Amino acid sequence: MVLGLGLTAPLLQLGYTGQSMRTALQARDSVAGFLAQPVQSRPEHPVRPDGAEVRYEGVTFGYDDSRRVLHDITLSCRPGTVTALVGPSGSGKSTLARLLPRFHDVDEGRVTLGGADVRDIEPARLYTETGFVLQDAHVLRTTVRDNIRLTRPDADDAEVVRAARAARIHDRIERLPRGYDSVIGEDAHLSGGEEQRLTIARALITDAPVLVLDEATAALDPDSEAAVQDAISALVVDRSLLVIAHRLHTITGADTVLVLDAGRIVERGTHDELLAAGGTYRELWDRQQRIRSHEPDPAAPAGAGAGQVTR
Ligand code: ATP
Repeated sequence: MVLGLGLTAPLLQLGYTGQSMRTALQARDSVAGFLAQPVQSRPEHPVRPDGAEVRYEGVTFGYDDSRRVLHDITLSCRPGTVTALVGPSGSGKSTLARLLPRFHDVDEGRVTLGGADVRDIEPARLYTETGFVLQDAHVLRTTVRDNIRLTRPDADDAEVVRAARAARIHDRIERLPRGYDSVIGEDAHLSGGEEQRLTIARALITDAPVLVLDEATAALDPDSEAAVQDAISALVVDRSLLVIAHRLHTITGADTVLVLDAGRIVERGTHDELLAAGGTYRELWDRQQRIRSHEPDPAAPAGAGAGQVTR
């Protein structure tokens, strides 16, 4: 028994050490990967954007040389208007939106904000001019208050509450054990939809004249979605809004709908115009309506029945 106990303890210790080694090696690889990222170029002679109009002029982009993801994209999003991007999954909607904050730089053409090429705008300036709500909500392990004012650390409590109310998350925060002082992951455990509303509040507090919402309401239940849509509509005044949506009923009021397919804009117009045109948008719309009303999809493969999720 004594010998057995004496042997197992070091073996167990070896197992634990091996696990720690694997974790450390993974951490090393991810840090090395981060450090290997190319440094974003900074403009030598920064230009100040004049206004909040966003324009894409003949933009072509690929993540690598072997495949273009966007081809010759031209669009304009004026202050006080909503421009919606729709299209099948993988058509390049998120990629297009992410060129504005320079997550990547274009290969050809240019993206401008207030008449200035985004590559010529000082990065700090670019990020105060543009607010983002991306598909994957990122919240940090800190207080709810600091999570909301992450993009504007000088915002006072009243501004934090105003943004939280507009994003329809204030009541939920009030119910947390320490309200706005609750710490995410410790005494604040929020659902995916609630975290998404927190990031919407974060985008609203920046007061940025350009807002990009990438599937911002996709993780919300229908009631919260309607509430947040209302809040977002109220913000359009003087702002340029670029909205990416899968659920087409959320963007029927957009000033311009751009339909993207395989990295090209194949249709543009209002919801009514595109429905009347009977093209890709009409097809997407009819399909979503059928899914919502649980009718069988005639385009679905044989055997696919009512209520099945199809694209
Ligand atoms: P979804 O509606 O599913 O979010 P999407 O229309 O937004 O899709 P993107 O996410 O822009 O499409 O992707 C367009 C294409 O670019 C896809 O083929 C995708 O695989 C590819 N892609 C996206 N991100 C990267 C990346 N970081 N590196 C390489 N390829 C990528």
